[in-house]
Amino acid sequence: GNSTLSAATILSDSAGRWPDRIALVAGAERITYGSLWSSALRYAAVLRERGTGPGDRIGLLVTNSPHFPMAYFAILALGATAVPVNVLLKTDDIAYILRHSKARALVCSAESLGEAVPAAEAAGTPVLTVGAGEGHDPHPALDELAATAAPMAGPVPRAPGDIAVILYTSGTTGRPKGAAITHLNLVMNVATTMLSPFEMSSADVLLGCLPLSHTFGQICGMGTSFRAGARLVLMRRFTAEDALDLMETEGCTVLMGVPTMYFALVEAASRRPVRPRLERAYSGGAALPAHTLAAFEDGFGCPVYEGYGLTETSPCVAYNQRDWPRRPGTVGKPVWGVEVAVARPEAEDTVEPLPAGEVGEIVVRGHNLMAGYVDDPDATAAAFVAGWFRTGDLGTLDDEGYLTVVDRKKDVILRGGYNVYPREVEDALLRHPAVARVAVVGLPDPVHGQEVCAVVVPRDGLTPGAELADSLVAWGERHIAAYRRPRRVVFLDRLPLGSSGKVLKRELAELLRPTGDAGPPPP
Ligand code: ATP
Repeated sequence: GNSTLSAATILSDSAGRWPDRIALVAGAERITYGSLWSSALRYAAVLRERGTGPGDRIGLLVTNSPHFPMAYFAILALGATAVPVNVLLKTDDIAYILRHSKARALVCSAESLGEAVPAAEAAGTPVLTVGAGEGHDPHPALDELAATAAPMAGPVPRAPGDIAVILYTSGTTGRPKGAAITHLNLVMNVATTMLSPFEMSSADVLLGCLPLSHTFGQICGMGTSFRAGARLVLMRRFTAEDALDLMETEGCTVLMGVPTMYFALVEAASRRPVRPRLERAYSGGAALPAHTLAAFEDGFGCPVYEGYGLTETSPCVAYNQRDWPRRPGTVGKPVWGVEVAVARPEAEDTVEPLPAGEVGEIVVRGHNLMAGYVDDPDATAAAFVAGWFRTGDLGTLDDEGYLTVVDRKKDVILRGGYNVYPREVEDALLRHPAVARVAVVGLPDPVHGQEVCAVVVPRDGLTPGAELADSLVAWGERHIAAYRRPRRVVFLDRLPLGSSGKVLKRELAELLRPTGDAGPPPP
């Protein structure tokens, strides 16, 4: 059709309504909606002057600082496509994304220049710095130039299906793929989830502990906060202690986080009394163990709503929501405008919904589906079936429409003809008092095909060793069904985590494969 739409209006509309309201807190800095939007328009003017324009892709390697939203909304206002890159990535991965996305420029924070400059040189991408003072020759300083630039008049109109953002998936299970998120995807996801599940209003103060480069922090966090006229308190890097401090000093009312943050917050809160003003908390990105949810609710006195989403579904699929009875252990019901089905996983060309309670692949349909993977027709074709997006996750729906995520298809262990879902084994092991963190993976086994192995981080003060391993195996014999109980236990100081805080199971399995017996892997 002829309609136009720009996701830049997520910020510009709020700037028009509430120019003097504080949008952003970053350390001692407080930035109003009016000033944030006017910075974005000045950044956009500089980007245009430097030769980028509508349709161009612009990399964004910027820490959680005000420069992120300034540059992000500048790119959207310019009609270009933002390609956020996680600041934890190393040179090779950055170069891969710049090349793969054919980025025409890279906006880069001072602290990332070390990794980014060689990457940008390899990819032939010009660099503009932010937060680096006057810029490092030959890289001009976008923020300095913007300070004196005349702002662009307003956002360039876009078609709803134009690509606003390319989000490279976390890479938990393979090479990152670039999910093309349209202006419509962004606007719809922000507009609907702002009301439910997130219930964001202008009275809210959101702790911005998630990386803005990841879909959860960017679209759920920053997007709904700005749309609602709320206040976003940015953390450069998450630590539980700093998070508790900020919750108190800034009076945060809402938390959005991944399970690893909830683990750390529960531990930190047990070491010092919390006087939280938090009203509600949202978990997503990975499974939240039931006992962590309960411990957080105890310590902080506020409900935790767990939900489920993917980069490709921009991102919310289902969430526990206030209006329906909350079901811990499930990820709630589909968010408005999104349909979920559980399909027979082996069906390749059709979606055959399974009856309630049966485990199958979670498939999704609705306004939230990405346009496709950038320059990857094969991966795109494999991801869609009959208009549905295949998540690669296994789950069940109950009679009332609540979704439970069982596990990733790729993580399922096949032992002696049985499917073992690692998450169920992990949940059981987490009830053992010696276990602080755990990941269950399948290792090759001559007899059973795969053997169930538990990788355990013991609680502080416990000595890992044969004795503890034996006691865990014995505990499994009493509490976990024979076909899925761990026969091997390996101890690590910490689990390898990806940039969005998820356990990298692929890396764990590789780490463990060469050693034949229990005990720490070679360094
Ligand atoms: P990659 O696609 O590169 O391997 P990734 O799958 O981790 O990375 P994301 O889009 O960040 O990329 O994560 C989406 C995945 O996270 C889902 O497919 C699902 O496996 C998992 N996930 C999200 N929320 C939950 C949840 N509440 N419970 C269990 N798993 C979840």
